[in-house]
Amino acid sequence: MEEKIQALLNEVSAYTAPDKQAVENFRMKYISKKGTLGELFEELKNVPVEQKKNVGKILNELKKAAETKFNELNESIEASSASGDIGLDLTLPPVANKIGNLHPLTQTRSRIIEIFERLGFNVADGPEIEDDWHNFSALNFPENHPAREMQDTFFIEKNPDLLLRTHTSNVQIRMMQKQKPPIRAIMPGRVYRNEAISARAHCFFHQVEGLYVDKNVGFADLKQTLYHFAKEMYGKDIKIRFRPSYFPFTEPSAEIDVSCLICKGKGCNVCKYSGWVEIAGSGMVHPNVLKNCGIDPEEFTGFAFGMGIERVTMLRYQINDLRLFSENDIRFLRQFQPVI
Ligand SMILES: [Zn+2]
Repeated sequence: MEEKIQALLNEVSAYTAPDKQAVENFRMKYISKKGTLGELFEELKNVPVEQKKNVGKILNELKKAAETKFNELNESIEASSASGDIGLDLTLPPVANKIGNLHPLTQTRSRIIEIFERLGFNVADGPEIEDDWHNFSALNFPENHPAREMQDTFFIEKNPDLLLRTHTSNVQIRMMQKQKPPIRAIMPGRVYRNEAISARAHCFFHQVEGLYVDKNVGFADLKQTLYHFAKEMYGKDIKIRFRPSYFPFTEPSAEIDVSCLICKGKGCNVCKYSGWVEIAGSGMVHPNVLKNCGIDPEEFTGFAFGMGIERVTMLRYQINDLRLFSENDIRFLRQFQPVI
């Protein structure tokens, strides 16, 4: 029996397998229960007691050798199939990986943050579901005042009012309540208004608001900050104009237009055929708003502005329909791949 096992040991170590089937044959022949090893272990029962120890020892060696061989055969088959035996032609040019890209609104948001961060503005965030105080009352919107109707609101609950914020100004209020001036921050975020969906308006959109409160902050600072922003965002040839306007939370207030980059001033549906596009509302923070947040308007002044990220993006990439941003059409989104 010892000779038989010795012969099998040689057989096992010389075994080669060109494919998976041959490996399986090896397993069936030697390792499986009905294979040679199984038979030999059966025979071991009949070996005389004085030989049993020795025979058992070399039989176990054979078992180990067969199992090691089986693993080796398997590995070499897998390695060879991975390296080209499955019809892979390594001389062909590679297929380019399809990589995703950031949404155009995210790209614009990052650019806006980058510009303002260099001017020393922090980035602040706040809740999208807000109460009446932080969204309206603290911002000098008296109750039942028609100004509230400028922003058609989605209410979640009435008395006490809970609503989807109509602007990111709630973050300004929360900042001013918590922090003593100087405050210099921008607040990017999503806002909601109950508006009919069209090429120019949607029921949700994104804003970036900015706030600068300190001693001796004046309108000149506001103008210079936003002029710098427009040049950085659209190039140094951009034209900018301030138009007097009304907001409850700023006094004086101004809307800011830039020359329409889509039609270059000829007139299109985005600029309503005027050659100018409004990009932001702005003004000096109303003394009542400062008071509401516990800041003394005699000591501190501030400016605030707010702009729609969609509008900025439309001008930046010359997109003429706001709805494209939320339709999830891959053909549209793929056009904003970064150039590597
Ligand atoms: Zn235009």
